Amino acid sequence: MEQIFIVNEDQRAILKTVARFVKEEVTPRAAALDANPDPEQGYSFEIVEKAHEVGIRTMTLSEEWGGLGTDSLTTAMVIEELGKGDLGVSVIMAQTLKIAQIMQKALNPEQRVRVLPGFAADPRGMLAIGITEPDNASNYFLPYPTPFRTTAEKTKGGWIVNGMKHFISNGNRASYYLLFVQTEKGIPMAAGTTCFLLERGRPGFTIGRVHDKMGERLANNAELVFQDCFIPDENVVGKAGNGFNVMAEFFPQSNAYAAASVLGVACALHQKAIDWAKLRIQGGKPLIEHDGIRAQLVEMRMLIDASRSYIHRACWLADHQEQGWDKTLGVLPKAMASQAAWKIATWCLEIHGGHGYMKEAGVEKLVRDAAAFLHSDGVNRTLFLKAANFMFKD
Ligand SMILES: Cc1cc2nc3c(=O)[nH]c(=O)nc-3n(C[C@H](O)[C@H](O)[C@H](O)COP(=O)(O)OP(=O)(O)OC[C@H]3O[C@@H](n4cnc5c(N)ncnc54)[C@H](O)[C@@H]3O)c2cc1C
Repeated sequence: MEQIFIVNEDQRAILKTVARFVKEEVTPRAAALDANPDPEQGYSFEIVEKAHEVGIRTMTLSEEWGGLGTDSLTTAMVIEELGKGDLGVSVIMAQTLKIAQIMQKALNPEQRVRVLPGFAADPRGMLAIGITEPDNASNYFLPYPTPFRTTAEKTKGGWIVNGMKHFISNGNRASYYLLFVQTEKGIPMAAGTTCFLLERGRPGFTIGRVHDKMGERLANNAELVFQDCFIPDENVVGKAGNGFNVMAEFFPQSNAYAAASVLGVACALHQKAIDWAKLRIQGGKPLIEHDGIRAQLVEMRMLIDASRSYIHRACWLADHQEQGWDKTLGVLPKAMASQAAWKIATWCLEIHGGHGYMKEAGVEKLVRDAAAFLHSDGVNRTLFLKAANFMFKD
């Protein structure tokens, strides 16, 4: 299915490169990496290095910092293409592309010079965001007036951080992190959180467990553990206590990127359903010639197209907010795309009959992957509640 909204030859060339990268570097490796029982071993630095070679890893950096300066719409198309090959690869790149975009805008000039050239030059350079804690997830999405449990005490020249984050994508792989910490005690997180720039290897910061996930296994998620970790004042992003403003101001396209990743999985499932429907003969003719199946394949197409349009609109308006950005676009495209993907996953299984339940058909990996975004980047119900807060504020 052709991407819509391709407006120029640069975009077309980029997407062609990404499609070739997926075909040559991701598809041949994905099934074996996914099947590795050790969650850390699902990750492939070879894939990351190849993505670096063809310019994918750094494409959201502006040319000044060695990237292509892709806008949010083009980036979402790239993330979807990657998701057609493998969800985990799409997610590790989406996180990195998104955070690089945020860093360019949110870091001060000194921080940018300190971080961006090194990140651009490192073929394995990955980025991560640490917000979620065992006790705080929907709490910060909505947000509820509770504090984060990861706290920082002011000391001379910086802050002493204690606590832990969990479920963090690229958590054990990143070279730089944006970390959200409660710096003012006794007040809600929305008012008392600071965003810090954190480097890998800083004393007092260690990686905990790497989570063993049911799907999205080519991406790693991990705990971040802080024991008297000193972070200097120079690493505060924006102003102390202003962390939630950093989130609100610089993350508008985050939800649409998550949506694009899972939309790629929906496309892969749809293609598998079509291929099988052409191949499998029942009632004397291929399944695709039976009306019920034909209608279902078209309904899948409709869900994919509608989700993609929503994502593209959100991305375009995130970059052109003066044209009518609406805050619900920052939370709903992922809910829509993940629900569509989940429905398509069950229909794809159904069209395959018992064959889809056999691992060799390759449908079960996609079903496990499709489930990932019912919760990642905010549980859908929580996102609906957040959208309701935007819609019915008064
Ligand atoms: C694969 C994966 C990758 C992730 N990557 C990152 C990352 O890179 N960085 C990061 O910071 N976090 C990350 N997360 C965390 C993710 O954002 C949270 O898992 C998600 O927000 C859900 O949190 P939770 O699991 O604690 O669910 P909870 O918040 O505990 O929610 C549990 C259930 O309660 C419901 N609920 C909550 N509040 C209400 C309410 N008021 N009314 C009705 N129902 C309610 C929810 O909708 C949900 O159904 C990741 C998670 C996953 C699974």
